[in-house]
Amino acid sequence: MANEDIFKKIIAHAKEYGFVFQSSEIFDGLSAVYDYGQYGAELKKNIMDYWWKSMVQYHENIVGIDAAIFMHPDVWKSSGHLDAFNDPMIDNKDSKKRYRADELIEDHIAKLQGKIDKEVAKASKRFGDDFDEQKFLETNPRVIRNREKIDAIIKRMVKALEEDDLKDLKQLIIDLEIACPISGSKNWTDVRQFNLMFATQLGALGDGASKIYLRPETAQGIFVNYLNVQKTGRMKLPFGIAQIGKAFRNEIVARQFIFRMREFEQMEMQYFVRPGTEQEWFKYWKEERMKWHLATGIPEENFRFHEHDKLAHYANAAFDIEFNFPMGFKELEGIHSRTDYDLGAHQKFTGKKIQYYDPETNESYVPYVVETSIGLDRTFLAVLTAAYTEEKLEDGSERTMMKIPPFLAPIKAAILPLTKKDGLPEKAREIMDSLKYDYMCFYEEKDTIGKRYRRMDAIGTPYSITVDHQTLEDNTVTIRERDSMEQDRIPIEKIAGIIAERIRIKR
Ligand code: ATP
Repeated sequence: MANEDIFKKIIAHAKEYGFVFQSSEIFDGLSAVYDYGQYGAELKKNIMDYWWKSMVQYHENIVGIDAAIFMHPDVWKSSGHLDAFNDPMIDNKDSKKRYRADELIEDHIAKLQGKIDKEVAKASKRFGDDFDEQKFLETNPRVIRNREKIDAIIKRMVKALEEDDLKDLKQLIIDLEIACPISGSKNWTDVRQFNLMFATQLGALGDGASKIYLRPETAQGIFVNYLNVQKTGRMKLPFGIAQIGKAFRNEIVARQFIFRMREFEQMEMQYFVRPGTEQEWFKYWKEERMKWHLATGIPEENFRFHEHDKLAHYANAAFDIEFNFPMGFKELEGIHSRTDYDLGAHQKFTGKKIQYYDPETNESYVPYVVETSIGLDRTFLAVLTAAYTEEKLEDGSERTMMKIPPFLAPIKAAILPLTKKDGLPEKAREIMDSLKYDYMCFYEEKDTIGKRYRRMDAIGTPYSITVDHQTLEDNTVTIRERDSMEQDRIPIEKIAGIIAERIRIKR
């Protein structure tokens, strides 16, 4: 199936089964804004809990906060966002579609890289066990040519971005003969910078009101609270502050479902370290975060690291963890070494000393920061993408199943009386009541048992528990496992243990 078709199916499935709805849909929707439905909200909460536990509960030196969305407007002057939080955009005059100039160029690079990957795959097939990939990459003329092209493009793009040379950015798009994916034409406007900050008014409108912003990242709420937390928590370096919260960006190009939204949620952790140790901690967090993703059980080949070609104004090292979304590998999480840029800037702007007295070295300094910044919504989309499975069954029928990692699944167990009579609902309710205080459970008596199983498959429920006439005689039930569809007869008292084992996070 083409990737585009899979994406459409995932979006339709997410709507049909109560995961994600377009915001204000009955008013024709609000572009690039989405609402989470009854199962989506559960899945999102489970992802949040997994992150919070992994960061705050499992690390004794990381604490969590919850800062306000509104901040003093000078925060954004001091952090550089008002001046530099821009994206270079270009419009195609025929399709009237707007693109991020750097992303058009990066897609072109990905195509060249795809050619290299194809050559490698072909050669690997031809040479079998004798294939030496490294040597092939270094010697094959076609690979070398494409590699050189990629390097030259990256060099020119980074230079243009760093020097804010929008003319050359456009010229690069023209020289590479990049066409609009919609109209196919190369009829481009000039490249222009767009600031991504949303502004609003604090106080009554009019002269007295002051302009404030919806935060475009959660990180600044942590930086401005660095001293508060360090002092009240008596924290010693290295230590971290974690936060989950909404962020807002007036994204100009927002066509990819919940991948790029105007209102979204970030899970960020800023780790404060002694200057000079930041590369070591950067390496540590890079590996640690990849382990977090892999511990979900989502196969490794869906993830990869990508080193930034152009570093943000505050960073001295930056890697993304990319995920293989239906539209290809794209950023899921960023790991950045932010130096003392933010604390230093706020210290300068406010004139307040933001420093750490290090008892080991007898020195005071502005700590360095290594941050891990992940989009909650993008993680949600990654989970949906990896989970969506269409299966042909032995009897010729088909089922659509969400293979959501059990500990993240919205519902852990469905309790289903086989029929609506003979005391089966009462018995099933008893089981429901014994489980629901520990696990999110779902009770349903309508429709045939087959239809009810399919609905549970479609929302990713790992277990369905069926109460039948035998249950009334010997206190046993049928437990059906989602992926294998295997059914076992077990005593009622074993249900809780089976669910607990399956939803344990294995680290
Ligand atoms: P991109 O290059 O895709 O615009 P970014 O580099 O601007 O992302 P960061 O500023 O590093 O993103 O933000 C950290 C994380 O927040 C990203 O890795 C992503 O998961 C998430 N994120 C950023 N922008 C959005 C958005 N508009 N919608 C949903 N998630 C987002």
